[in-house]
Amino acid sequence: MTEVKLLVCGAFNDEERARFDANYPNIYAETPDDIAAVAEDIRAGITAVVFKGHAPFGGAAMDPLSGLGLIANFGVGYDAIDVAAASARGVKVTNTPNVLNDDVADLAVGMMLAQTRNMVEGDALTRSGQWAAGTNLPLNRKMSGGTVGICGMGRIGREIADRLAAFKMDIHYHSRSEKETPGWTYHADPVSLAKAVDWFVVALVGGSETEGYVSAEVINALGEKGIICNISRGSTIDEGAMLDALEQGKIAGAALDVFLNEPKIDERFYALKNVVLQPHQGSGTHETRRDMAELQLSNVTAYFEGRDLVTPVN
Ligand code: NAP
Repeated sequence: MTEVKLLVCGAFNDEERARFDANYPNIYAETPDDIAAVAEDIRAGITAVVFKGHAPFGGAAMDPLSGLGLIANFGVGYDAIDVAAASARGVKVTNTPNVLNDDVADLAVGMMLAQTRNMVEGDALTRSGQWAAGTNLPLNRKMSGGTVGICGMGRIGREIADRLAAFKMDIHYHSRSEKETPGWTYHADPVSLAKAVDWFVVALVGGSETEGYVSAEVINALGEKGIICNISRGSTIDEGAMLDALEQGKIAGAALDVFLNEPKIDERFYALKNVVLQPHQGSGTHETRRDMAELQLSNVTAYFEGRDLVTPVN
């Protein structure tokens, strides 16, 4: 009998599953919580898990795999995986950075334009025949030349800033340390950044360290012309404070790809006219998802062949 070393965990699509099947015999578990239910004799042979999704993957889900050495995450954000618990068990974690930067940055800019130019309302007006019947879209707001703040000048934040520079925007940013930039303005704290800009783009990592990083104080500092764009994780913003500010007109709007409790997001969002909402689709193109799958698999192959991991996290 062929030894099964790989456990596939999460909502991989057929193409992604077929890629694993073609390379390694594997066993499937829908979520980390289902791993313990895999037959004991198969679990004993598993040394690597490929993981996709946002279900928490903690130590309790690692423990039934006594030979586990690798969790290869599909995605750059690995906040669902308890990396400290993995490290404590000698388990390496990998992710898929860089290959998705362009798509996520493209979506951020697209959402910002859609929000500020009322493109969703414009589509509905045109499609419904109201424009043909004589109703014009109300004038909206110019984005080019505006002032934007990037909160988290990492890989994706940088791609967003580079794109917005081409929109002739005045770029400000906040990170824990100053970066080499073409003269962009650094802010040592997010409140100072929010005070200085009208557009505020969140590109932080998720996880407990950045929970509520964009606090009520930051949101209030942005002010009534402020538009928040978030492509990071729902957890990085005090979502309740943002909803209050959106409902009360304390900020002008938001363009959001990520939320708390996805996909069952807070229904207060549904009633808001000043938001553009996307179903966490930042990296969701055929091209990028294929690149992410290949990078994930190359980490698994490196691990099984005893080579250095391509994109290790711990
Ligand atoms: P990255 O290069 O690691 O950049 C992350 C940024 O977060 C950096 O600016 C970093 O600050 C900041 N940061 C990290 N830990 C922090 C802490 N404890 N306190 C304050 N700031 C902290 O990551 P990336 O590749 O750009 O990805 C960023 C995130 O985007 C991912 O983690 C993921 O959650 C999200 N994402 C979303 C989608 C989507 O579909 N919407 C797709 C891909 C990724 P420094 O600059 O100071 O180091």
